[in-house]
Amino acid sequence: MSALPSIARFAPSPTGPLHFGSLVSALASFLDARQRNGQWLVRIEDLDPPREVPGASHQILKQLESHGLRWDGTVLYQSSRLEAYAAALESLIESGLIYQCRCNRQRLQSLGGIYDGHCSQLQLPHQDCAARLRVNSAPISFNDQIVGQYSQNLQAEVGDFVVRRRDTLFSYQLAVVVDDQYQAISHIMRGADLLDSTPRQIYLQQCLNFKTPEYAHLPLALNAEGQKLSKQNLAMGLLEGQESQHLWAALHWLRQSPPEPLQRQSVAEILDWATAHWSVQTVAESLQNSPAPEGY
Ligand SMILES: [Zn+2]
Repeated sequence: MSALPSIARFAPSPTGPLHFGSLVSALASFLDARQRNGQWLVRIEDLDPPREVPGASHQILKQLESHGLRWDGTVLYQSSRLEAYAAALESLIESGLIYQCRCNRQRLQSLGGIYDGHCSQLQLPHQDCAARLRVNSAPISFNDQIVGQYSQNLQAEVGDFVVRRRDTLFSYQLAVVVDDQYQAISHIMRGADLLDSTPRQIYLQQCLNFKTPEYAHLPLALNAEGQKLSKQNLAMGLLEGQESQHLWAALHWLRQSPPEPLQRQSVAEILDWATAHWSVQTVAESLQNSPAPEGY
């Protein structure tokens, strides 16, 4: 047993209601936290106003509540954290790790996703530029609870990456790292679509002298076309009044073998059963990206 408190989080973007895929992530991290008597926090990642759907934050929180996924403490909104992100950026600038980049979209696209350092020696002003963080060639490795050992050479596979966008919005990578530290998050369980962001986040933690949490990346629920369920490809929102069935379906999808009659019980009873039986090993051993159940 660790002496430090275990703190986990679920961090949705308010771009639409919860769907089956986001329910799976919320439920898995909730059960994992509850099984180790830890806290489970909710953070709304509302950093990108143009992508937000009015009312979505409220709707997501209502849906979590109706599924019995009650969070600890108060909800943290990234839109309230801009000063903290600016302070982190300032600290990176003082460390000499930041430069301004004015490469346009066309040039960046021609690079195929790996930035070539083109602007690193140009001493460009802040105006109308993106701020990039210098990386190096030391491999970043971590042991994911589900995926196992994962390693990335940021220089070869990513390049210097953006921490403040040209439109002045802070990047997801910077904000998430600053908030995980602020909320003292010890365990991060989330979808495998974020696996290849994790080395950038660990690198940022190292640059900012932050702690690195434990990571576990869940396989993804796919739609009929084999794409990740997401708001972008119009995954269906979860229907009200069927919360027990949704939880049961998510447990079944996570290979937790919920007994069939459990789906007719209350969400509290289902969550109690699921907490007692939660096995991240089963997820790790038996689950791969796989289709969502029919109807989701
Ligand atoms: Zn550039």
